[in-house]
Parts: sequence; structure tokens; C-alpha cells
Amino acid sequence: MGRKKAVVLQELCVACGCCAKACPKDAINIINGIYADVDYSKCIGCGFCVKACPASVIKMEVLS
Ligand code: SF4
Ligand code: SF4
Repeated sequence: MGRKKAVVLQELCVACGCCAKACPKDAINIINGIYADVDYSKCIGCGFCVKACPASVIKMEVLS
């Protein structure tokens, strides 16, 4: 079983950047001002971004 990672529902993301600011590992980038993208080589699964997202479009999932 793998570690939990942050998964963004990108079609619902409003690109506010709150998740990127909250991430202690600088693992989230806002792509073209449209959606948030998680760099899974950096994400440690802390879940801070989930709490920071005003649109509640980030979930923690176990990625294989
Ligand atoms: S779970 Fe933590 S490390 Fe991963 S993207 Fe969210 S804030 Fe960053
Ligand atoms: S905090 Fe939520 S809505 Fe804002 S950029 Fe991140 S995923 Fe998108």
C-alpha cells in the first residue's frame, strides 16, 4: 500500500493558489492560471493543502 498523496479535482479548481501557499514542500504549481498540479516527487501527504482549499477540491488518495 502506497502513501497518501494530494489529488486535485482539476476541472473544479479555481486556481486561487491557496494550496500552493499552504504546501510546506512547494509541491503544487498553478498551471497556466487554470488549475493546481501536484508534483508527486515532492508531496509528503501532509494534507495541509486539503484544509487550505476554499473550493474543497483536493482529496487525499493512496496512489500506487
Ligand atoms: S499533501 Fe502536503 S506536501 Fe502534498 S501537496 Fe498537499 S500540502 Fe503539499
Ligand atoms: S486551493 Fe483549491 S481551488 Fe485553489 S488552486 Fe488549490 S486546488 Fe485549486
